[in-house]
Amino acid sequence: MPEPCAYFRGEYMNPKDAKIGIMTHAFHYGTATFGGLNATWDEEKEQFCIFRILDHYRRQLTACKMLHIKLPFTEHEMAAITVEAVRRTGFRQNVYIRPVAYKSSESLGVRLHDLDADWTVIATVLPPFSSKSGLRCSTSSWVRTSDNQILTHGKICGGYVNGALAKTEAQLTGFDDTIMLTAQGHVSEGAVTNTFIVVKGRLITPAPSDGILLGMTRDTVMQLARNELGLEPIERSIVRSELYEAEEAFFTGTYSGVVPIIEVDLRPVGAGEPGPITLKLQSMYRELAMGRNPNYSDWYTFLKPE
Ligand code: PMP
Repeated sequence: MPEPCAYFRGEYMNPKDAKIGIMTHAFHYGTATFGGLNATWDEEKEQFCIFRILDHYRRQLTACKMLHIKLPFTEHEMAAITVEAVRRTGFRQNVYIRPVAYKSSESLGVRLHDLDADWTVIATVLPPFSSKSGLRCSTSSWVRTSDNQILTHGKICGGYVNGALAKTEAQLTGFDDTIMLTAQGHVSEGAVTNTFIVVKGRLITPAPSDGILLGMTRDTVMQLARNELGLEPIERSIVRSELYEAEEAFFTGTYSGVVPIIEVDLRPVGAGEPGPITLKLQSMYRELAMGRNPNYSDWYTFLKPE
């Protein structure tokens, strides 16, 4: 019977059996950094493809540096442990991978230094990000935390309260999702997704200085746009007016893929349906992340279950 698998304190086990104590520093203060990767199941080839695994772990190791977490692993070792955890699940469907590096010390006190840390990874199955073909979004009343408040280029657990406030506000007021703005009013990102717009045929995404995570999917989509569509992506600040002027808009994320945004603040985006550039990038990204584009084979880690 397939079941989720965690690597925890040097062993593989069911995540139900991987327990941390209530005094754990990260539990009290959010002093941890997580990741999110997919092992996409290719039904035809009967294999998993884990997409950009080394890049994901390089990003996590950088976030560890931000939090003064020193792990006894390289990105290659983290990747090998992850592949083994996915293999041990026995699943034959898309698997979601959640690595977490955290302050495991059971000593209280708000600080980052002189605290033990640990790293765990969970391979499990999640429901789809959204069953909708296009999202109705608000702009959030919650301001995106700035880089000088909680470093936004690291997936720092405590910082996710910001996105959680925004997402809940949006969903309890009848929207599917939300776009957060910076204190300067620039478009930043969704709770767990990067934002893109198309204005007069140009593909634009917020600059790294506008409170965003440097998403792996964001980077992949920019490369696809440049290499496959001849569309040079522009990274720059986006103002709110441009959300209403855009003929297309979409979110990107590992968990979500490329998701069209069809409405912002009760105003249709373009014709109020997913646009052609969005749909093209969405299908190219799907194929790519499943391991089916040999031009990007450096990004692939294949796993064929026995
Ligand atoms: N922004 C935030 C805040 C996120 O948590 C995520 C998901 N990890 C993203 C953007 C998308 O990043 P990626 O494409 O690397 O999944």
